[in-house]
Amino acid sequence: MKALVYQGKSDIRYEDFADPELKDDGGVIVQAKLCGICGSDLHLYHGMSGETGFCVGHEAVGEVVEVGRAVKRLKIGDQVMIAASAGCGRCGACTRGDVIRCEFGAASAYGQGKRLQGCQAEAIWAPGADFNVRKIPDGVTHDQALMLTDNLPTAWFGCVQADIRPGDDVAVVGLGPIGLMAVECAQVLGAGRVFAVDLVDERRRMAAELGAIALHPDTAPQEIDAATSGRKCRSVVEAVGLDATVELALRLVGQEGTVSAVGVNFNQAFAFPMLMSFLKNTTFRIGGCPVQRYWDELGRLIQSGRLRPERFITHRLPLSEGAEAYRIFDQRQAGALKSVLTP
Ligand SMILES: [Zn+2]
Ligand SMILES: [Zn+2]
Repeated sequence: MKALVYQGKSDIRYEDFADPELKDDGGVIVQAKLCGICGSDLHLYHGMSGETGFCVGHEAVGEVVEVGRAVKRLKIGDQVMIAASAGCGRCGACTRGDVIRCEFGAASAYGQGKRLQGCQAEAIWAPGADFNVRKIPDGVTHDQALMLTDNLPTAWFGCVQADIRPGDDVAVVGLGPIGLMAVECAQVLGAGRVFAVDLVDERRRMAAELGAIALHPDTAPQEIDAATSGRKCRSVVEAVGLDATVELALRLVGQEGTVSAVGVNFNQAFAFPMLMSFLKNTTFRIGGCPVQRYWDELGRLIQSGRLRPERFITHRLPLSEGAEAYRIFDQRQAGALKSVLTP
């Protein structure tokens, strides 16, 4: 088959790659129809891995073409979505939907190395398929299902972890696809006002179209203070992962508020503002999203039209132009939000 293969920093190639095989009874082979490029793919693109020669990507939807003997819920021909991270699917943590803490240490994200090959490929081996792969719900399109493999659950998780309650003032820092979806999720969870913060004009414009109050990070603290009579926000979602955006999120939260970070930050020495957080009695949550846990509720919210994640897809390219797609995404060309590749 053909796949996008990591060959080193800023070097992703469309190449021949070994066809995936069923490694045990519990997996399936999925022929990919759409593959997503994600913000977190850029960490790899920027040279995070020492390994090379593995297939990249962790977001895909497609058709089941081979089924392991122990798989009960899927059959050949099913149109499915694959969760970005796979767990064993049987232990206590997995059955609670908490794949990342899989008790058998089976948790693995696709496309980070040779352990679990990536999803930006013509075909994918997905282990523990009864749990890690789901038939696309009726009335949900392939575009929408692709957003369910990672980005939308992450946005939802970010909002759930931010303790949003009806009528609350909420801020979302960073308006990439996950941040923009977090604006929508916050509204669905009952936020009163959503302040949406980003440097990029085009992204602020999109957030304003969703009904948010769009702010530039330079003036957001003053404007939010003015709008809330100094109370600031009850909940803040941070969807970037830079030190500056985490700092801003911690500034924007008010007394007894919650900051929820879903951006990946590699800084082990982040200077956490202890005194300010102590004085505000801040709750700070950070973590990776257990995608499988949210499939049921988000599927229903898409079916009912309350969430429309597909509108953040801005670029479509064939998988063969994957290297170019990564370049476009890395340079954050104007208006580029979600890029989708078609094998
Ligand atoms: Zn992703
Ligand atoms: Zn497990």
